[in-house]
Amino acid sequence: MSIEVNHIYKNYGAQLALNDVSFRIQPGEIVGLLGPNGAGKSTMMKIITCFIPATIGTVSVYGYDTREHSLEVRRKIGYLPENNPLYIDMYIREYLEFIAGLHHLGKATPGRVDEMMEITGLNPEKGKKIRALSKGFRQRVGLAQALIHDPEVLILDEPTSGLDPNQLVDIRQLITRIGKEKTVILSTHIMQEVEAMCSRAIIINKGKIVADDSTARLVTRKGEVSIVTVEFDQMIDQALLKQVKGVKNVKNTGTNTWTLESDAQTDIRQDLFKLAVTHNLSVLSMQKAANRLEDIFQQLTQKENSHP
Ligand code: ADP
Ligand code: MG
Repeated sequence: MSIEVNHIYKNYGAQLALNDVSFRIQPGEIVGLLGPNGAGKSTMMKIITCFIPATIGTVSVYGYDTREHSLEVRRKIGYLPENNPLYIDMYIREYLEFIAGLHHLGKATPGRVDEMMEITGLNPEKGKKIRALSKGFRQRVGLAQALIHDPEVLILDEPTSGLDPNQLVDIRQLITRIGKEKTVILSTHIMQEVEAMCSRAIIINKGKIVADDSTARLVTRKGEVSIVTVEFDQMIDQALLKQVKGVKNVKNTGTNTWTLESDAQTDIRQDLFKLAVTHNLSVLSMQKAANRLEDIFQQLTQKENSHP
């Protein structure tokens, strides 16, 4: 097991930021920690990276407990904190050499810095001070510093926030590429990020995990509804549509247009088509709404909000 989080509670004074959080991550997984602002994502990451202690509970990284063996844990982890704090008056190389020094890389430093500049695509900007870099290139410096000691685990706190669309695509690709050889946890409040980069999502809201599943399974969750919209060439009786197997709810949503709800597992489209043929109706259009992670996320976090 790469990371084990066991029943973590974290209080900031009276504020409960994490409320019984547990999960396990296998080596090689890319996991998205997904949740709205204030959910507890950064707090969880700071506990895993030994920046703050949990109030209750334990975390281990490759078998090392974060309290008892924080030095070993830090060696295993590369961490890109939220807002990517950098020494902006340093040159890129100078900064990476400084970080390499903190990791005692010694004689390996110059080679390792070269390698990081190459991997993260920093060479075109290599003569510049960090101050002069765009947000996208600053994120590359942040990733380079997180990777410099060749850690097994990468913890990336909102690595793509504040990037413009082009930078976003570049950094996502870079993370996906780097992630092939590492265990990665990245946090985000944007569902598309998880769909783009992660094999698994842990959804957290108000300090509690509300879902933990593969990205693929989350979008076809049991118990969620499937929605089909169909348009006929003429008005029909609503009762006809209710006869279609699996249909739970029918609404008239436009001229000769109906929106039907069924279980997520049932695809009613074939039966709907047969019904049209039987009754001599023409189907002008038929569309099944994709159950996006975004919808799931909203359902889950709203459910949670209604039971404070
Ligand atoms: P996220 O990263 O998901 O936005 P955080 O982990 O930063 O969430 O915060 C979780 C909760 O804990 C929030 O309600 C936040 O206000 C609170 N919090 C975070 N850091 C501190 C702190 N140092 N002192 C007091 N409250 C904090
Ligand atoms: Mg945060």
